[in-house]
Amino acid sequence: MILLHRFFSDLKLVSKVTLLVALLGTLAVTITIYSMSTMRSVERDYRSLLSQDAAATLLISDALLHLSDASRLVFSVLSEQEEQKMRATQQKLDVLQSKFRINIEAIRPLLKARSDSLNAIAAQERIMFHQAARIVDSAARWRGDSALKIIHDEFEPGLQTLRANIEQLRDATVNDYQKKSVGLSETTERTMLHTAVAFGMALALVLALSVYLSITQISSPISRLTRAMNRLTKRQYDEEISGTERKDEVGQMAKAMQLFRDTMQRAEILEKLVTMDSLTGIPNRRAFDKTVEQEWARSLRAGIPISFCMIDVDFFKPFNDHYGHGVGDECLRLVAGALRSCVRRPGDFVARYGGEEFAAVLSATDEAGALQFGQRLHAALAELNYPHAFSTVADHVTISIGIATSTPTAERSADMLLKAADEMLYAAKRAGRNTSRSTQLPSKAQSVHGDCRDKTVISKTGTVVE
Ligand code: GH3
Ligand code: MG
Ligand code: MG
Repeated sequence: MILLHRFFSDLKLVSKVTLLVALLGTLAVTITIYSMSTMRSVERDYRSLLSQDAAATLLISDALLHLSDASRLVFSVLSEQEEQKMRATQQKLDVLQSKFRINIEAIRPLLKARSDSLNAIAAQERIMFHQAARIVDSAARWRGDSALKIIHDEFEPGLQTLRANIEQLRDATVNDYQKKSVGLSETTERTMLHTAVAFGMALALVLALSVYLSITQISSPISRLTRAMNRLTKRQYDEEISGTERKDEVGQMAKAMQLFRDTMQRAEILEKLVTMDSLTGIPNRRAFDKTVEQEWARSLRAGIPISFCMIDVDFFKPFNDHYGHGVGDECLRLVAGALRSCVRRPGDFVARYGGEEFAAVLSATDEAGALQFGQRLHAALAELNYPHAFSTVADHVTISIGIATSTPTAERSADMLLKAADEMLYAAKRAGRNTSRSTQLPSKAQSVHGDCRDKTVISKTGTVVE
């Protein structure tokens, strides 16, 4: 079964169909040959039946007629007056006897199985015609009494026996004929039935094979490929594409899909490399700019607020100067991880903006929500508790956050909001660091600069102190 499966997997679609048609054709031809040869043998048997049994029956009937003629002639002798006519009767009897014998000899090759009966008939025939000759001779010598006695004692009983034997032979032959004829018609019916059944089975076999091949060779692999394609559209590249080992069209399709998957996977890796910050492993400035653009446009369409956060590590220059650049890098990696752990909603996005600065996009988030997010960031840094002996605001690494919120309008741009967030970051720095400052742009576009108000301050411990 496995070999058969593999064999079919390597065949092109057109070859599969050709093979099925060829199989059906071969079966049809085989069945037709079987049926025709059987019917031909039936026809041969019919012909021999007609030429042997039927011909034999006719010859037997003919022999019976000769026998009747002979008996009539024998009896006619008794009423004959002229001796010459009596002698003429003997000649007629001789002719009948030879006709009778010819008949019997003609029957012999036709009824080889009944040669015993025919031998008996031939022997009786000799006796009977001999008695007939004796009767004619007695009558010709005017010895009617003697002729009558032979007729009565010998000729008539012998004739009856002979006739009975011949009739028996005829009945047996007719019986044989009927039996063989019934047998032949049964064979004909059986052959027709076998042919019909064989054709039905061949059709069913080819049909079942077609269905099996359609399901296992075409439908199922195509469904698997469709599922694989669906996975690829969802950017799931882990599962192998099945069917690539096949040599048919499905195999070609699977190979093309595998190539597509590899290309997609490579493209995704490249895309990640291009948009990923190599030091911290979180999205870089490029990815941030793209997200800002996309989310701003989305919020503009939906008419919902959006918030940007600018995040800067406090006193990072003295940190670097004292602990060294390597420890600084390690610290940046951990800070990035802490910031990323605060991202919970699908619309939230954190990236490394450059140096020791980070930035966040919070879709569908108003000022209060953005402040809460900022609070989570401060709490995360407090929890990280990375020692910083050269900070004047805490004994661990802290951050300052500038937040700007706006409901986008056509007159306003994402850059304006970013600039406002940056100004809030400086406000937070001015306010002593390890804190947040936020602003909300007014509904009508005005000078961003004039509208920035320090609104909320979050203490070192993360609580809102106003
Ligand atoms: P402030 O609280 O006002 O932000 O003070 P600051 O010391 O952080 O000041 P500033 O923003 O000017 O310092 C940034 C420093 O961050 C400069 C540089 O030494 C350090 N820095 C920037 N990028 C990297 C980096 O990729 N790795 C490391 N280790 N340090 C960096
Ligand atoms: Mg800085
Ligand atoms: Mg700094």
